[in-house]
Amino acid sequence: MEKVLHFIDGTFCESHDGRTFDNFNPATGEKIGVVAEGGKAEIDQAVAAARRAFKTWGKTSAAERAAIMHRIADLIEENLDELALLETTDTGKPLTLAKSLDIPRSAYNFRFFADFVKGMSTEAFEMEGVALNYALRRPVGVAGLISPWNLPLFLLTWKVAPCLAAGDTCVIKPAELTPMTATKLAEICQKAGVPNGVVNVVHGFGPDAAGSALTEHPDVDLISLTGETTTGKAVMKSAASSLKRLSLELGGKNPNIVFADCDLEDALTTTIRSSFVNQGEVCLCGSRIYVERPLYDRFVAGLVEKTAQLVVGDPLDPNTNVGALISFEHLERVEGFVRRAVEQGGRILIGGKRPEHLKHGAFFEPTIIVDVDSSCEITRQEVFGPVVTIQPFDTEEEVIAIANDTNYGLGATIWTSNLKRAHRVAGEIEAGVIWVNTWFLRDLRTPFGGMKQSGIGREGGVHSFEFFSELKNVCIKL
Ligand code: NAD
Repeated sequence: MEKVLHFIDGTFCESHDGRTFDNFNPATGEKIGVVAEGGKAEIDQAVAAARRAFKTWGKTSAAERAAIMHRIADLIEENLDELALLETTDTGKPLTLAKSLDIPRSAYNFRFFADFVKGMSTEAFEMEGVALNYALRRPVGVAGLISPWNLPLFLLTWKVAPCLAAGDTCVIKPAELTPMTATKLAEICQKAGVPNGVVNVVHGFGPDAAGSALTEHPDVDLISLTGETTTGKAVMKSAASSLKRLSLELGGKNPNIVFADCDLEDALTTTIRSSFVNQGEVCLCGSRIYVERPLYDRFVAGLVEKTAQLVVGDPLDPNTNVGALISFEHLERVEGFVRRAVEQGGRILIGGKRPEHLKHGAFFEPTIIVDVDSSCEITRQEVFGPVVTIQPFDTEEEVIAIANDTNYGLGATIWTSNLKRAHRVAGEIEAGVIWVNTWFLRDLRTPFGGMKQSGIGREGGVHSFEFFSELKNVCIKL
């Protein structure tokens, strides 16, 4: 049985007290290994190693760092099959998805930031005849990178890549439910020539454990977290004691707005993805669907028909569209949301239960609920599972108001053939990432992040470097 270890200062190691926790495959319910359980002692060691390594890594040239990062990307691609299988075993997601999305995008994150950093510039201002000002970009120091379980390697590399490119060192705290690919990434970094101490991985839990030890550590300069909004609030509090710079990518309850003049087939096909891909466990999933009344009946019938065609099953089967949820605990949470939605007047059109033939794993059928409104829990709380609601609307003003009636502000999708309207509505919707007639299409140069309680800060292109580097102005009197 596999034992997943920490990676500190270039060495794979156990916890100082030998503590471990169990790791399960959610699609089979089987225990697949044990994981070293770190705490304050391991975080202290890892932060000290990262601080020592920063002295030299922070002084390497962007070209040297970029070359190493391209080697990391090569190795991720060479190990695609193994990484994808680890990701599927840990998460329950379809292997086809891990192979086509999670792992290739992880490699691309390294390539993108390696190339981007080489072309970066800073501003200069001449005070004519008096002085010349120019900005220098320098790395910040030691970053704490805390990742979630839904897209484990993909979202982790989205932090590690700009961190290394900027010249910072890091301590990674992967989600406790998905420890395997982070550990493999450490091995890959070492093979690619990342010096000891630059990348460290400490496994363990969040509150009062490895996670909080990292966020409150006085020698950590930056914290980048992707996780739940409640976690973001806890992290903000604990990071305040040493005034750390924070990047928080948090939860979402994203509206998917369908106007009657849209291309229906296009909207339906993409809505199937934005509702149920990765079992609905994507922060950007459009779980609140609003359809303009003249199209409502046709849209609902079409979505139910396409949902019925989705294959829920063994994540290793290439025909599977929807795999297992991350854990039985999460499955029960999702079931609770659906049960309470029905108690509050909701009507299940399809799904709403565990599939009969898959009782051994944490499976849940893709679910569509109607007859709910903005007062229902199901339209207000993030379910983070394969569950969507559909409501009709009559006017643009009305749908903007309902879409914005939430504490979240991560993503939104607008379906219409009227580009004037698309632009107008995009300007009014309170969300950081807005798609028109598409979903999840992402240019890594663009800003990504949430408004309201969906987060603080932006990632992507220059925005990631704003976070992972310091700008200092030099003023030379002429
Ligand atoms: P989570 O908040 O439970 O855990 C995320 C990470 O934070 C884990 O590594 C966990 O151990 C750690 N953590 C938890 N409490 C902590 C604490 N007090 N101090 C330090 N670390 C702590 O989230 P999850 O369940 O792993 O992921 C699902 C959530 O992530 C959803 O809310 C989803 O919307 C969100 N998410 C957001 C984005 C985005 O880009 N905005 C992307 C993916 C997921």
